[in-house]
Amino acid sequence: MKAEIISIGTELLMGEIVDTNAAFVASQLPSLGIDLHYVHQVGDNMERLLETFQRGLSRSDVLLCSGGLGPTEDDLTRETIAKLMGEKMAVVPELERELRSFFVNRGIEMPSNNLKQAMLIPSAQTLPNPMGTAPGWWAERNGKIVVAMPGPPREIRHMWETQVKPRLRQRAGGAVLVSRVLKITGISEGAVDVMCGEHLRGTNPTIGVYAKPDGIHVRLAAKATDDASARLLIAPVETYLRGQFCDHLWGTDEESLAAGVGRLLTERHLTLAAMESCTGGLFSNTVTDVAGASQYFKGGLVTYTTEAKARYGVDPQVLERHGAVSEQTAAAMARAAREQLGASVGVGITGVAGPSEQEGRPVGTVHIAVDHPKAQRAYTGKYSGSRLDVKQRVTTAALFHLRRLLVEMGE
Ligand code: ATP
Ligand code: MG
Repeated sequence: MKAEIISIGTELLMGEIVDTNAAFVASQLPSLGIDLHYVHQVGDNMERLLETFQRGLSRSDVLLCSGGLGPTEDDLTRETIAKLMGEKMAVVPELERELRSFFVNRGIEMPSNNLKQAMLIPSAQTLPNPMGTAPGWWAERNGKIVVAMPGPPREIRHMWETQVKPRLRQRAGGAVLVSRVLKITGISEGAVDVMCGEHLRGTNPTIGVYAKPDGIHVRLAAKATDDASARLLIAPVETYLRGQFCDHLWGTDEESLAAGVGRLLTERHLTLAAMESCTGGLFSNTVTDVAGASQYFKGGLVTYTTEAKARYGVDPQVLERHGAVSEQTAAAMARAAREQLGASVGVGITGVAGPSEQEGRPVGTVHIAVDHPKAQRAYTGKYSGSRLDVKQRVTTAALFHLRRLLVEMGE
């Protein structure tokens, strides 16, 4: 089955929003065995939309569209599909009832424009959208399929999972491509290559090694007639690689570094606290991105000024002697966080975010410390990029250092 993605909206062409919907849908197709041939971005213009739809249908089996399902004049997806199919749109009473009750529940009057969201053509069925007001469309003609999904990412993802993916899975029935990503830190890309050994030359699964901001990712991709058979091909190679990477492996697939660290903390019955300066709370924010973080994360203190550091337990003499940006202060911050918040492990982060140097330390100098009653570590690094880049990189580095200490303590 051949597919094309059509992302609709002038906002995309103005560079005001990034087409994450296309990336999302594209990432979903290999496991359904659907081949993606084109991705289009088209503005809110009926003529150009129609041309894109017609060309797409002349060479592909399914068009997957997002956006333009709203109530306004420039939302033209329904009208375009109706024209494409040569059919007239009509209000479906049941949809109108649902739409009106949506507005009643919110206590607002329904603008008349919204009525078009209750319209349909004979060749289409609606796809419910509990996340918003615009139902999707699944239109079919001569074995070709046009799917219209809403633009807001939350809405399209939900509709995809609950409505579109199950239908496509039934229809596609081709070979599926399943991939498994192993995420590693502490070994170089070259060394990872060597560890993969002869499997690197395998054809099913194939192996790809990629350097990413959070370490090395090794992707195993297998092709088979169904999901289970593909996983069976991956399993022995994954087992072999797990044996090679041992503790350097910190996560799989979508798992984040913060989630991997969370798993280690939970397994070891440890709790965590942080005191942050230059990351301004990003470390704590990242830790709490993980569902269930309350099991191990006691809290974080953002002590941006030297005075705040002293007030929350950093020895003023350390600050005086070594300066607010120093390994010693990072270590004292890690210990203070642990003690003040009653955690078993503390993390301290201090550095020069810029734009000018501080206490003679150049912009980008960052100190990270991890503190446990039985083990203390402090590191110094130099980070470049925008303020946001630096905050992000330092947060990733702090999670790495924390992870390393947890792994060593478990040995
Ligand atoms: P609405 O009812 O909100 O108008 P819609 O289906 O008409 O939904 P659009 O008007 O095209 O969708 O887009 C609404 C919002 O959804 C955009 O402002 C943008 O935030 C987001 N969005 C739309 N298309 C995309 C896309 N391709 N990638 C990421 N976000 C998108
Ligand atoms: Mg809209």
